[in-house]
Amino acid sequence: MNPARLIDGRAAAAGLLETVKEDVAKLQASGVSVTLAVVLVGDDPASHVYVRSKLLRASEVGIRSVEHRLPADTAQATLLSLIEALNSDARVNGILVQMPLPEQIDEGAVIATIAAEKDVDGFHRENVGRLVLGEPALTPCTPSGCLFLLEHTLGDLSGKHAVVIGRSNIVGKPMASLLLQANCSVTILHSHSVDARELCRQADIVVAAVGRAQMIDASWIKPGATVIDVGINRIEIDGRTRLVGDIEFESVSRVAGAITPVPGGVGPMTIGFLMRNTVLAAKGQSLKSVSAKPAQREILRCRATDRVSERS
Ligand code: NDP
Repeated sequence: MNPARLIDGRAAAAGLLETVKEDVAKLQASGVSVTLAVVLVGDDPASHVYVRSKLLRASEVGIRSVEHRLPADTAQATLLSLIEALNSDARVNGILVQMPLPEQIDEGAVIATIAAEKDVDGFHRENVGRLVLGEPALTPCTPSGCLFLLEHTLGDLSGKHAVVIGRSNIVGKPMASLLLQANCSVTILHSHSVDARELCRQADIVVAAVGRAQMIDASWIKPGATVIDVGINRIEIDGRTRLVGDIEFESVSRVAGAITPVPGGVGPMTIGFLMRNTVLAAKGQSLKSVSAKPAQREILRCRATDRVSERS
């Protein structure tokens, strides 16, 4: 069997960011300065790294960003007041609160406070509900990136059997909804699933979002299947820290038809879709100020592979 085709997330994200950049320029020309507010609470080093790369990407595509750094002992009420102020600030199009938050702050309350139309992470219950109902929505960035890579690799996904391993609110569940909307037959596996390996081996598409290093080896994969590895796990090999996915890459790449690497697969798409969601939010808000209906169409017609620039 030939080795699997490598799905290049860095290249796909670069293409996506080009279209986002074009859209930002068009909005700028029409008087809208696309703006993302980023809120970072506390000193978590990984969060600081993520925020830095999001701000860098934003500036590369011409999105203005406003950073709010709050100390680790910030009270929940203070954070919610800041979000409410950002909600009412017409210059702000998207609001991102970097997770995880310090333990005194309820993440659910934070997500619920962000205005749905500025919810560029796609976590607000209004956006979650729209996605499940099959209505257009701002959709979570990581699963949107996975769908983009799948459609980029396979074209039309209709009729494919997709297995999603993991059912978190930020990856597994929205991934399953997006695949269902793309007319796949979807199976969701989780820690209570029985015969998970056998079920997975029936899949044309496997999306692994478990958070367990190299859990899925070749015995889980049907020959020729397309495999998307969301997992990001750090392991020690010979005294060195390595980043690996939930897929055991060496063996699976000998069986699969196509596979994403870690790093360089899903990761770059997540930030790409954060930028795309910020532009969609800005478009929706600027149209809304003229007429509600086109605004809805714009934000809500939101298949992951829609080129933002094609819809302007
Ligand atoms: P969660 O820990 O929230 O969810 C993990 C899911 O895996 C749960 O639904 C759990 O089931 C399921 N699970 C655990 N063990 C098994 C098992 N043995 N068999 C089947 N299912 C199992 O993780 P996330 O969804 O937040 O993240 C998953 C991975 O993706 C992590 O490695 C994370 O770092 C990575 N990630 C990567 C991103 C990127 O940009 N590339 C973005 C977000 C996440 P149950 O519900 O029953 O407990």
